[in-house]
Amino acid sequence: QYSSGVRKVTLIPGHGIGPEITVAVQKIFEAAKVPIEWDEVDVTAVRGPDGKMGIPQKAIDSVNANKIGLKGPLMTPVGKGYRSLNLALRKEFDLYANVRPCKSMEGIKTLYDNVDVVTIRENTEGEYSGIEHEIVDGVVQSIKLITEEASMRVAEFAFVFAKENKRKKVTAVHKANIMRMSDGLFLRCCRDVATKYPDIKFEERYLDTVCLNMVQDPAKFDVLVMPNLYGDIMSDLCSGLVGGLGLTPSGNIGKNGALFESVHGTAPAIAGKDLANPTALLLSGVMMLRHLNLHNEAQKIQQACFRVLREGRVLTPDLGGNGTCSGFTAEIIKYLDEPE
Ligand code: NAD
Repeated sequence: QYSSGVRKVTLIPGHGIGPEITVAVQKIFEAAKVPIEWDEVDVTAVRGPDGKMGIPQKAIDSVNANKIGLKGPLMTPVGKGYRSLNLALRKEFDLYANVRPCKSMEGIKTLYDNVDVVTIRENTEGEYSGIEHEIVDGVVQSIKLITEEASMRVAEFAFVFAKENKRKKVTAVHKANIMRMSDGLFLRCCRDVATKYPDIKFEERYLDTVCLNMVQDPAKFDVLVMPNLYGDIMSDLCSGLVGGLGLTPSGNIGKNGALFESVHGTAPAIAGKDLANPTALLLSGVMMLRHLNLHNEAQKIQQACFRVLREGRVLTPDLGGNGTCSGFTAEIIKYLDEPE
């Protein structure tokens, strides 16, 4: 698949608005002549040999073979015996770093117009290890697991990301003043890795201070790296600074591959009505193209998308417009080959 120049990519349209925003991305990629071939799979849970509901084997095989995928939102049915499909995918492919670039977009009115931060969240352990038990009646213990291995690899990822993307600074976000051993270890790993990258400024900041400073002056920050729970919260906070979850792309980077996904959910109330905003999934696709070194295609699509948002003539209702998903998509396609 490499020699022909066409990369095969696993496509998981997902549920709710997933299929319609996926079609939008496919149309735009096709119009931009992106040299990838989609391998579409359904990840709706099926009952496995162990009796538990889980991801179909075909989907797992596809991601394992292609090592790269684009994914829409998934609905996890509420009830016993169901595992979160997102969590299952993360575990299955050991997707250890969650990357979310949050950059202000012209035309999207928010509190600040100068936000340009990237949150990098450790995705496999920390507070979300899922190790909880009741010691005695009324006393529950939850284990926050921090390992040197996971901390080193996410710290290394953050610095490599900073270097490759010409970013200037990495901030490690922590509470090592309180959680001396666990966050202390995470922080030490970040310090260790930082010494290998003298060209990138390194700073350590307490989580609470970062929250305060981020909403006062987001320009203080560049790349941020942190344990799981802090990353979960900070990444949503940063998304909010640039216009909300509907616009924010993300990537989950693993040892053997990467899965790019929109941050929002299935938006059941507007599903099937051609009202969904495909921007988050499209920009996740753009991140994926950069990961595949398809920089020209990525730039072309991103520019056309930003232009449509900036001009504001055809916008979906979530952005205050009265356009449709397909109308927004057509507008982007129109601008693909049109120099500004
Ligand atoms: P949601 O993101 O689906 O919706 C929140 C609000 O944002 C709604 O008003 C919705 O209409 C709007 N919205 C979200 N994405 C939009 C888009 N692209 N265009 C226009 N409007 C958009 O969150 P929720 O309602 O809390 O969750 C609904 C379902 O999605 C649940 O089943 C949940 O488990 C699932 N979910 C999945 C993921 C994922 O797969 N990554 C993430 C979050 C929620």
